[in-house]
Amino acid sequence: MESFSYTEVPDIRAAVAAGQRGGRYIAGGTTLVDLMRETVERPGTLVDIARLPLTGISPAPDGGLRIGALVRMADAAADPRVRSAFPVVSEALELSASAQLRNMATIGGNIMQRTRCPYFRDVTARCNKREPGSGCAALDGYNRGHAILGGSEACVATHPSDVAVAFAALEAVVRLQGPSGERTLPFAGFHLRPGSTPDREQALRPGELITAVEIPALPPPARSGYLKVRDRQSYEFALTSAAVALQIQGGVIRAAKVAAGGVGTVPWKLPAVEQHLLGRRPSDALWAEAAQRAADGARPLRHNGFKVELLKRTVERQLRVVGGTR
Ligand code: SF4
Repeated sequence: MESFSYTEVPDIRAAVAAGQRGGRYIAGGTTLVDLMRETVERPGTLVDIARLPLTGISPAPDGGLRIGALVRMADAAADPRVRSAFPVVSEALELSASAQLRNMATIGGNIMQRTRCPYFRDVTARCNKREPGSGCAALDGYNRGHAILGGSEACVATHPSDVAVAFAALEAVVRLQGPSGERTLPFAGFHLRPGSTPDREQALRPGELITAVEIPALPPPARSGYLKVRDRQSYEFALTSAAVALQIQGGVIRAAKVAAGGVGTVPWKLPAVEQHLLGRRPSDALWAEAAQRAADGARPLRHNGFKVELLKRTVERQLRVVGGTR
């Protein structure tokens, strides 16, 4: 680990000012400290925001929920309002990391976490995300865990977060505080696809701090859930995952919100699947038909072609779990 300076800030204004001067925010530290130990990250200044008053969960203006950026993953997962209104969020959180990490890591940090691409974490490997212009060792290397959707010639790393997939499905909004005030970003615009600048991962302006994630209310009666497929049953990242929320009324699907994880360079919304479901009557055949569209546009690499079929099966299964077998 390289030397750095450390500052604790008393309020949001001081945090934003320190962030604008180039400081890196740290709260739970579960990603950043690991990366600093490996010298993948070498921030000159850490700005400790852990004591800022961003730890509440409260009703959002439209009847949904606002989850403070510093709410711990374990606390968000256990919150009765999250569990009853958005099971897909609590399930995604509970299937993430380990109990110890969930007790430390925050919601804001989770959606900011960096890829698990092994070449990114190996400072001797070529990696455009870590060192722009150096190349991408994954493209001609071992790429079983990499993205089949949203990749570029510069980077094909997957986004590792589970709860971000649930937020993407539910069309959450990220609340930000910056030097010139507050603003909101739709979740779909928060994470950036790699394009030619994979080192730029979020649409944040200098100094901007995430203050909360707001989940819009689902129209009742809604059901939701998260399925994660991985090589082992705990403490492992997704090969594929599916976040599904459905409103079925009068025997017809009135609302469908679906996203996938483990396959995209960003949490991957599936509008073609959603469109196929809307206005139709639930059936096993419909789940299978809709899931066929989950991999539209996929560009598998040498070692991850299996993800195309696995993604379709993951989405089909989770549609059946949430929408019922008919
Ligand atoms: Fe780096 Fe992205 Fe290539 Fe991985 S996939 S080596 S993160 S540029």
